Amino acid sequence: MSDAPVPPVPPQPPVPPGDSAPLPPTPPPIEGTEVRSHFVRTRNAVIIRATFTELYVDYYLHLAANHVRPPEQHDQKFKDALAAFVLHSTARPRTELIAWTLHFEQSMLNIFLTADIAEESVAGRIFADNVRQMQANYLYSDVVVGRNPTHRSMITFPDEDPFRAAEAFYLQSEQRPARFFTVGPEDIVMVCSHPDCDTAWFDSLTVEALRDLDKTETLSLLERRRYRWHCGCNQEKILGVLAPAMRKDPASLFGNDPSLQVNCPRCAARHVVTREALEAYVAEHPAKDPA
Ligand SMILES: [Zn+2]
Repeated sequence: MSDAPVPPVPPQPPVPPGDSAPLPPTPPPIEGTEVRSHFVRTRNAVIIRATFTELYVDYYLHLAANHVRPPEQHDQKFKDALAAFVLHSTARPRTELIAWTLHFEQSMLNIFLTADIAEESVAGRIFADNVRQMQANYLYSDVVVGRNPTHRSMITFPDEDPFRAAEAFYLQSEQRPARFFTVGPEDIVMVCSHPDCDTAWFDSLTVEALRDLDKTETLSLLERRRYRWHCGCNQEKILGVLAPAMRKDPASLFGNDPSLQVNCPRCAARHVVTREALEAYVAEHPAKDPA
């Protein structure tokens, strides 16, 4: 074996013939960004923290794999919104499917984010074309639990900053203050007040105070979650999205082309749909209301 050329990155260590000793099982890789929440004793507040490097890398890999290039000036806004949303998700029960849509009026930009909390998965995308003017910045929150109808709430926020938008959401919609801090390049912290919160302490929090929090406060671990980038879109779901337009006006979809390219409305992943596949799908799934 020693004369064999060594590949630069061997996928598996070679097992010499005759050596039947099995390799020790490799533990499955721990995937995702760990988000930890702690109760801050005597302050009656919850602190939720994560380092988002891995999730940001997964997002960039997703964009590269789908040849999606959102405008560069919106990149930081998306990452901040993603971090705020994942921290918020960690404050929510595991039964919920949640989504945020943030509209930034001056930038003419919409950011969509969605999480399946039971799965600990998150996805999202930027919309920078054909964004409707709305005269203010808005955050729409959608929550689905089981088969119940979607619960939607909406707030406005003053500055084009996703963290300040999330704070406005907590104040106006959740009716309990929360604060967001960037304590390292990709280390983001959310502090959420609970009933009987020490408000003087809460209001006086700084980045420096949060960096030392493990030394200065008594924290008890509530939960660890691991969020990973995952939308779950596939050809079948995209066919379902296109079916109503196909039933109504196939020419407007395809023109004379045999296929079209669409981006997932949730994560912008690129899907190619052939006319043949969509015709077959529509034939198998007739409209529920033929009116
Ligand atoms: Zn998708």
